[in-house]
Amino acid sequence: MNVNSNEVKVYVRTRPTACFAQDLIEYLPDKQTVNVHQRRCSRRGVVNNQTSSWSFRLNGVLHSASQEEVYEHVAHTVVLSALQGYNGTIMCFGQTGAGKTYTITGATEAYRQRGIIPRALQEVFREVEHRVGHTFSLHLSYLEIYNETLLDLLASIKGSQEPQGGPLTVVEEPGGGVLVKGLSLHPVHSEEEALNLLFEGEMNRIIGEHALNKNSSRSHCIFTIHIESRSRTLSNATYVTSKLNLVDLAGSERLSKTGSEGQVQREAMYINRSLSFLEQAIMALADRRREHVPFRQSKLTHALRDSLGGNCNTVLVANIYGEAAHIEETLSTLRFAARMKCVRTEPSVNEHMDPALQVHRLKKEIQQLKQELSIQDTLANRAGVSYEKLSESQVAEVRSQVQRYLAGTLDEITIVNARQIQEVFAQFKKIVQEQEQLGQKHTLVEKVHSMSSSSAAKAREPEGAVGELEGGFGLGVAAPSQRHTPSPSRSKGKKAKDSSSTPPSKMEAFEHFKAERGSELKRILKANKAVLLERSAQLHKLTDAINATKRDIDKVGSELEHLRAKRQSQGQFVSAEGEPVLEEAELALVLSLREMKDNYRQAHDELLATRAEVRYCQHLVAQCRVRLLTEFESWYNESFLLPDEVLSILREGPIRPGLVPVDKALALVSKTATRISQQDNKKVRRRSTPTCCLTAPVLCGFTMHRTGHSR
Ligand code: ADP
Ligand code: MG
Repeated sequence: MNVNSNEVKVYVRTRPTACFAQDLIEYLPDKQTVNVHQRRCSRRGVVNNQTSSWSFRLNGVLHSASQEEVYEHVAHTVVLSALQGYNGTIMCFGQTGAGKTYTITGATEAYRQRGIIPRALQEVFREVEHRVGHTFSLHLSYLEIYNETLLDLLASIKGSQEPQGGPLTVVEEPGGGVLVKGLSLHPVHSEEEALNLLFEGEMNRIIGEHALNKNSSRSHCIFTIHIESRSRTLSNATYVTSKLNLVDLAGSERLSKTGSEGQVQREAMYINRSLSFLEQAIMALADRRREHVPFRQSKLTHALRDSLGGNCNTVLVANIYGEAAHIEETLSTLRFAARMKCVRTEPSVNEHMDPALQVHRLKKEIQQLKQELSIQDTLANRAGVSYEKLSESQVAEVRSQVQRYLAGTLDEITIVNARQIQEVFAQFKKIVQEQEQLGQKHTLVEKVHSMSSSSAAKAREPEGAVGELEGGFGLGVAAPSQRHTPSPSRSKGKKAKDSSSTPPSKMEAFEHFKAERGSELKRILKANKAVLLERSAQLHKLTDAINATKRDIDKVGSELEHLRAKRQSQGQFVSAEGEPVLEEAELALVLSLREMKDNYRQAHDELLATRAEVRYCQHLVAQCRVRLLTEFESWYNESFLLPDEVLSILREGPIRPGLVPVDKALALVSKTATRISQQDNKKVRRRSTPTCCLTAPVLCGFTMHRTGHSR
């Protein structure tokens, strides 16, 4: 049986009989199909020998099956799944005396005849012993539902986990399951302990029968094994739980048949009601178009809510008589079974997280990660990096870095750790937001100003569109009237701006800048890059040539060695002066080697010079790039972001207005009357100085470089 496929499994079990109605009940060889044939009753004295037939296809037929076989077919997989965290429910349904109690609990006569509950307990404890990687916690409960009243069959036992007394009620759990509030739960540690509880419950059932004069076949009994399992590994903070319900339903016979009165009739009414509600719930569950299932109509369906059509492996055993006398009840039992077979369930493991263990595990993991980090830092020579929350002064330092970066006075922000990166982004966001606010404030000032200005002045400001926020940068735009008198350099910015009242995106503006105002810089950058490329190629060529010469030198050297060795081994010729006399070949090699070495030395000198030149060119290209960007930034600020009044204040200082950070410059607006103080001026100058200094070396470097190139 595949417990994870979501369909209720249904089996039929016949009570053994000497007079099995073979002509009426037919079991097909597939061991899954039951055909029932019923003779039509005679009406008005007319004998009718016609028969009607029904065919039921179930999951299995348990005919003349032993208790052991029944357990294997019906319960074994459900029990194992329960140990893995799947809920399971096994129910017996049928008319009184058909063998429901025999199937679920078994006969008391012989051990061999024990039913599903004792066998399930045995298997659970065996498995618990074998599964050494897990710890299990098992509890039992035993509930009886009699005349729509919930009774705790284990209430008499001490040591339960639930408070005793008070009526039992079915409540819905937050996770979607149901729970009988007030029902006692008993911890069990061995099969023997568990069986004692089962017997105690059975005893209470019988005593209740006598005391209340009730018939046990008129009540529903639910024996539940509550399982909780945890992995023994500490790192695993999850645990699984499951409930295994073993249900002995009340007899399903039609009470009209018995002709009973009084208490019996009342019982019959309750049983009929609860079983017909069970049937209604089943029908609603089987009909997938129905959204509402009437579980709350009876205590039984409510208590079994998640066992019938929910997160559960559900199995139904339809107990029937084999005799002809009961054929009508048999037929109705099989019809119920066939409907139940259409019900789908959705079993899934009930996994939970243990918060205390989870915290413990996470703490340990953090500890290990910190150790790992410190090892990595040591290996990377990054001593003393702190991973704690940034202090106020560290945050202030990050902010200052971001501001300097935005103003162009800091080339890059060195990455230290993730917290610092997050803070850098946070500061970027803050600065953008502040600038947006300033932009809005500026708009308001602008509007008030334009409202109070003369109509003639208004005429000079046809657009009047100010302070609109540009999505990309979130910066306010000054109105034309608020701008300073256009200077020759500024007129280009204005030209770019005049086509639209909002500032262009920086990408657009940068293209425009490179084409006009920054064209010379762009040309220089391009020329520098071209020279760099050319010199780099030259460097490669020289390196290759030098390597080739070196290889030749080595080769000739070893040939010469070889010749010399040969000459010495054969005896040397000496001149009259006693000098060794070289052979022609050896002499040629010596001369060639000398020439090669000269070439090598020259090429090496050239290589060093070219390498230096390449390095210098790289430096120039980098400088040009910075210069281009800085120029662009200040041009953009002056042309689009800074109002005239701010520009005019700044122009009186020693620094080009566009180089003053925009936020700083705009802050001047709020001090309308007061001019920028000498102190502020000094601060700005200090901050901007490095950028200003770039001008001279770049251009001068370019000249030097050109000279070098023409060499
Ligand atoms: P139910 O609970 O459906 O009312 P029981 O389980 O009490 O019926 O069965 C009635 C009687 O039939 C009992 O004495 C039981 O031992 C016997 N019985 C039922 N089914 C079987 C079976 N498969 N094998 C042997 N005896 C059975
Ligand atoms: Mg019974």
